[in-house]
Amino acid sequence: MDFNVSEEMSVRLEMIREFMDREVIPLEGEMLFGDPATLEAGVKAAQAKVKQMGLWAPNHPVEFGGLGLSMVDHGLFAEAVGRSPLGMTVFGTQAPDAGNIEILHKYATEEQRERFLRPLVAAEIRSCFSMTEPETAGSNPTLLATTAVTDGDDYVINGQKWFTSSADGAAFAIVMAVTNPEAPPHQRASMIIVPTDTPGFNLVRNVSVMGHSGHGHASHAEVIYQSCRVPRTNLLGPEGSGFLLAQDRLGPGRIHHCMRWLGIAARAFDMMCERANARVMDADGGTLADKQVIQHWVAEMDAEIRGARLQTLHCAWMIDQHGASAARDEISAIKFEVANTMLKSVDRAIQVHGALGVTDDTILSYWYRHERAARIYDGADEVHKTSLGRRILRRYARAAEAR
Ligand SMILES: Cc1cc2nc3c(=O)[nH]c(=O)nc-3n(C[C@H](O)[C@H](O)[C@H](O)COP(=O)(O)OP(=O)(O)OC[C@H]3O[C@@H](n4cnc5c(N)ncnc54)[C@H](O)[C@@H]3O)c2cc1C
Repeated sequence: MDFNVSEEMSVRLEMIREFMDREVIPLEGEMLFGDPATLEAGVKAAQAKVKQMGLWAPNHPVEFGGLGLSMVDHGLFAEAVGRSPLGMTVFGTQAPDAGNIEILHKYATEEQRERFLRPLVAAEIRSCFSMTEPETAGSNPTLLATTAVTDGDDYVINGQKWFTSSADGAAFAIVMAVTNPEAPPHQRASMIIVPTDTPGFNLVRNVSVMGHSGHGHASHAEVIYQSCRVPRTNLLGPEGSGFLLAQDRLGPGRIHHCMRWLGIAARAFDMMCERANARVMDADGGTLADKQVIQHWVAEMDAEIRGARLQTLHCAWMIDQHGASAARDEISAIKFEVANTMLKSVDRAIQVHGALGVTDDTILSYWYRHERAARIYDGADEVHKTSLGRRILRRYARAAEAR
């Protein structure tokens, strides 16, 4: 594995870091306390500058206006923009759109590409992904209850979803629904594109999460599909292929989250070190940084973030070289490892900031609230640990049999 970063990528990273500090991080105050319309205008202005700099949509296909970066380069990129909650949106690579773009690019018909994919990559519209249901276990989506029944040239969708992130203001949802109830469990469901202005698409509420129901992109909606009728031409991929598409969406999606979390972990670490150096604790001018426990936290966190970064970039390299399915173990391992490292970094930074850490005067408490979910979505820690542990043990069992 080559640890060198290409000259072109080094230049891009320098531009991104400078832009994040100058244009994006200053918008965070508006995000925390300001007016949503002012924030949106600021984000749009920053997006226009990113497009002018030729840095728009780094991981998306070149023919749709992206940069088509390799997974390793995207990892470096995402860490740099992950330093702010607004970074991914400003650079056109935010979830859930990024995952939807991934599957639309792979499976959409020509008509679907023009209508949904092209404007999505350009950020002219937003989208959402509607799979999880309050009444069935998201960790086992073969239990999904939402149905899409054929009626002439249409599907009629009925069911209740929640945590359809960013549905508020989205132009369309990609909905996972049962189309083939008699088929084997993993061939029962399909993905269907549902424009959100379709009668029967009912956004009931933005679910309140950690004290905030949010709005627009930063929200998690409960949606009831009530006799929601869309043409059968809105089917994405073959009927019954919902699980296949979900895997295609979730594999890269998980690594994208890990890359962004590294940016959070790194900025929280910077804040912890800066605060430790600046906070005077003793009459003789001694600072928090002089305390051995803080020095240990800094050393441990530095080592853990380095480890998480190396694991993530190695996983990205595996995907570039051999494809996402060959990197299943690596993806499972980083999904829980990087999530926990990021949360620990935020928690330690809060502790070092004392009371200031739990206020909204820094970005740390925002992350503490919003990123706790990292250990739940796209496969809870326990699910990834179980599947990784099971695969490793099977390999040992096969090796023992072969001896
Ligand atoms: C902030 C956020 C954003 C989200 N965005 C979206 C979205 O845009 N679209 C969408 O469709 N969904 C979204 N989700 C939903 C997410 O994918 C589900 O929450 C996740 O799949 C877990 O499903 P569940 O909540 O039903 O938990 P359950 O499946 O009920 O699991 C509950 C807990 O049980 C434990 N557990 C589960 N399986 C096992 C096992 N095999 N062994 C041991 N323990 C286990 C885990 O600790 C897990 O957290 C989002 C969730 C959050 C929190």
